[in-house]
Amino acid sequence: MRDHPELSVVVPMYDEEEVLPIFFERMHPLLDGLGITYELLVVDDGSRDKTAALLLAAAEDWPQLRVVRLLRNSGHQAAQSAGFRRARGQYVVTIDADLQDPPEVIAEFLQAVNEQDVDVVYGVRSDRSSDSWAKRTSARLYYRLMCRLVGKDIPFDAADFRLVTRRVVDAVNALPDDGRVFRLVIPWLGFPSAEVRYVRAERAAGTTKYNFSKMLRLAFDSVTAFSAAPLRLATWLGLLGGAMSGLFVVGALVIKLTGRSIPGWTSTVLAVSVIGAIQLLCLGLLGEYVARLFQSSQRRPQFLVGYDSLGDHGHQEPLHHNPQHQDPPQQNPQQHKAPSDR
Ligand code: UDP
Ligand code: MG
Repeated sequence: MRDHPELSVVVPMYDEEEVLPIFFERMHPLLDGLGITYELLVVDDGSRDKTAALLLAAAEDWPQLRVVRLLRNSGHQAAQSAGFRRARGQYVVTIDADLQDPPEVIAEFLQAVNEQDVDVVYGVRSDRSSDSWAKRTSARLYYRLMCRLVGKDIPFDAADFRLVTRRVVDAVNALPDDGRVFRLVIPWLGFPSAEVRYVRAERAAGTTKYNFSKMLRLAFDSVTAFSAAPLRLATWLGLLGGAMSGLFVVGALVIKLTGRSIPGWTSTVLAVSVIGAIQLLCLGLLGEYVARLFQSSQRRPQFLVGYDSLGDHGHQEPLHHNPQHQDPPQQNPQQHKAPSDR
């Protein structure tokens, strides 16, 4: 539509009062200098600190700043979902609020999307030395596992700093919302993509809003969204256990027959605890999938919007879009391209 901005920059924010002034200070001149129309769409993910008040104050003399506030803390991915649903731009960039992803790279994203015929530009970290050893190692494990599960080359070390075109936004919005993990869903969709390398900085202020349980949640959602392989783990462990118990029986009989049987306390305790642990693990795995089915059968929204500075607060996005009502993305490949005189 005519009054829609060309670029939407989506920023999920949770308790970011410390970094917010620095973020705006750096972002404002940068976005103004891009030479295209834009909206800076901050999704306040139910912050408990002064983030909301600071946002509303800043919006007063920055018309392009749009504040969407979720009713409760719904998580980073849900906040991105809200941003994707509400963004109006032809291009949508997602970026963290903590300035770990340098906003200057947005200009490179735009250049890449204009020069190459792609729909996704991933920001790929070329250096993670600013992250702790534990974070780097767990991240490496995570990406290796995800590449296998998604069955596609997901760009290594690409997190949630990227640009996508309207085609991708519409395709993502047409997917069911449950436990969506953007960094996997977007490569999985398979749109043509490019990469821009950048150096990830330290968090500019404040502390991480991704605690251990949120990280674990992301990892579980990532796996259960794409693969049922863990369920089959139970079968393999069962087979292995069966083979081992065969050996055990033979061994026990031999010992018995040679008259060297000893009180079998240790072996009993070991066997019981190992089998018990394996059974619990398998039950837990089953539980993860049952929980996922349960949640999607409840059909509850991942987030609810409490406020949108653009108005229309009460409008809630439909739970599940019907893809048939969407324009097929390939209908007009040039449609998403911006005018070439830019
Ligand atoms: N965030 C959010 N909701 C949450 C947790 C985080 O919107 O429940 C936002 C946070 O404000 C930040 C981004 O997600 O803009 C990434 O979080 P953070 O930088 O704390 O994660 P890290 O870089 O430490 O993995
Ligand atoms: Mg961060």
